[in-house]
Amino acid sequence: RPILGIETSCDETGVALLRWEPQAPGQGLLAHALYTQIKLHADYGGVVPELASRDHVRKLLPLVREALAQAGLTPADLGGVAYTAGPGLVGALLVGAATGRAMAWALGVPAIGVHHMEGHLLAPLLEEDPPEAPFVALLVSGGHSMLVEVQAVGRYRILGDTLDDAAGEAFDKTAKLMGLPYPGGPALAKLAASGQAGRFRFSRPMTDRPGLDFSFSGLKTQVLLAWRQSDQSEQTRADIARAFEEAIVDTLLIKCRRALAETGARRLVIAGGVGANRRLREELAAAGVSDGFKTYFPRLQFCTDNGAMIALAGAIRLAHGQQQDESVQVFPRWDLQTLPPAA
Ligand code: ATP
Ligand code: MG
Ligand code: FE
Repeated sequence: RPILGIETSCDETGVALLRWEPQAPGQGLLAHALYTQIKLHADYGGVVPELASRDHVRKLLPLVREALAQAGLTPADLGGVAYTAGPGLVGALLVGAATGRAMAWALGVPAIGVHHMEGHLLAPLLEEDPPEAPFVALLVSGGHSMLVEVQAVGRYRILGDTLDDAAGEAFDKTAKLMGLPYPGGPALAKLAASGQAGRFRFSRPMTDRPGLDFSFSGLKTQVLLAWRQSDQSEQTRADIARAFEEAIVDTLLIKCRRALAETGARRLVIAGGVGANRRLREELAAAGVSDGFKTYFPRLQFCTDNGAMIALAGAIRLAHGQQQDESVQVFPRWDLQTLPPAA
């Protein structure tokens, strides 16, 4: 029976219905619906936690109804409920967790709290030709930049992490300091496409020494100086955006190659919001062809937050008999490595 997936960890309300199909999980996706709060937070230049929680309260149940209608199902058809239990904003998480847990209790079906980053990491399984473990995952989102060795679902070793800004955060902050409206990441990437190559060059942080950690906050400062000293024309903004994007993509590529060499893995999964970046997708795919590793990406709409990835991660764990007790628990901070293996 279909699993309801609920995502409310930050500023998108995501809902999906997924029937568990072990061989081809994407074929079990029956419906998904998303509401983004971007407009709500735009005036503030960032997510306002209390406004986020309240808006999830308003939007979640209508979205659940919408997804059920899309799939031609009623609540009584559900076989389980999966919701994001962390990491994320505590109030926002509580909306999804309380709603999901209460629905499961009322319907007499199991519920499971899902780790948001496990959701991102497993999202490529919803595509055709899903990756098989072991693989290396590059998780690049608004709050995380990590390289993870995935031995199996739930068996994760963090190979590298960010010491300061996450990749998506670097995109957003850099966009902001060049005057782009919130949320800047995708706008900066779009601008980069019309930028001239070679006019600016920024460093590839922490690639000159061994290790798999990232640091992107220095790059932001380099951009700020370049921008301040420039003529600040539209073309210059695009040229700087281009050089910034190249520096991030190149840095991620260098570290991915290292992680693959270190682990001996032949498969690379890319996930999280920055995984929607076109240059990143192209460069990693090209490196895979020349180096002999295979790359796996979620479709663009499943790179950023969505309910489908939560339904999937939850469905895998529910299929192996895991479930959450009747208490409503969320974990604003939650180490991926402490998750139990799924099987
Ligand atoms: P986390 O998953 O770490 O909790 P989050 O859920 O806020 O953070 P996601 O929804 O996965 O993050 O991704 C949003 C981030 O992705 C934003 O920082 C945004 O700027 C970035 N992003 C989205 N599209 C692009 C793009 N095309 N190029 C670069 N960055 C992008
Ligand atoms: Mg978001
Ligand atoms: Fe996310």
